[in-house]
Amino acid sequence: MTARALEMFRRTWAADTPELAMEKAAKHTTADFVSFVPIDPRAVATRFGATVSYQPAQRGADNDLTEHGQLTVVDGRWHVRVPLQMSGERRRFSVAHELGHILLFTAVADYPELVKQLRSQELFTRVERLCNIGAAHILMPTAPFRAALDEQGSPDRQTVETLASHFHVSLETAARRITEVAPEWSLVIWEYSTQHRKGPAWRIAKQPQRAGAVFVPDGMSSGRLDPDIVTAAARDGDATAVSVSADIPGVATMADVRAWHVVSLRKTLVDVGDERPQYERVFVFYKQPNN
Ligand SMILES: [Zn+2]
Repeated sequence: MTARALEMFRRTWAADTPELAMEKAAKHTTADFVSFVPIDPRAVATRFGATVSYQPAQRGADNDLTEHGQLTVVDGRWHVRVPLQMSGERRRFSVAHELGHILLFTAVADYPELVKQLRSQELFTRVERLCNIGAAHILMPTAPFRAALDEQGSPDRQTVETLASHFHVSLETAARRITEVAPEWSLVIWEYSTQHRKGPAWRIAKQPQRAGAVFVPDGMSSGRLDPDIVTAAARDGDATAVSVSADIPGVATMADVRAWHVVSLRKTLVDVGDERPQYERVFVFYKQPNN
């Protein structure tokens, strides 16, 4: 059952689900800005009379930033505060994420108990995910993103880097958005894990879940792939394969597979002051075999 606050948000935008409502709301909000890519989320914020400021944020015991963005009301106006220590891409994403919260609050503004529900622990994960959807759609509206992708061709290192720089978002954010506007493509992000109970290996760290996508278990090691395109990409920088299978029952073959190695400072997109060791990932894009 959908919580009443999200149900009201859904109805406000006449959508089938709160998630689709957020896409519609974000599209509506950015309609006047789509010709000005990269979209400046601070300019979008002015539509809501919101102000944005970048301020130094606290660090926790592990030296991580303790917050990624905050939304408050000051003298009856929205105010978005984002840590100064984050990279430009991450700051933009945080501002756009907080605009997602504003869209949600605006839909239930007349009902104090629904406003309270939006802030509840019970809805926290769903609301955060909704605001991330909003952020992605505000920064990378479907029409210009699709056009830019078509200009590049199919997803590979160059495509993702070009889109990320064009829309001024992180590589991962751009890569995820590709799988939404071009659903024939799926994405799996691998990380080299030394902590896993089964020993060090390249393992699946993230895969945006989508209906109909090949299911590959999180944490699976790249050794189960034939060929092991992840290790090949980590060694050579880039690797492609016409098809890759996994020796796991029920896991379908992946087609038109392309993989590349991405090295960045750990969490560099969250926190530019953080100089921890390098953070290695392999991005893999593939198609369903019958696509
Ligand atoms: Zn949030």
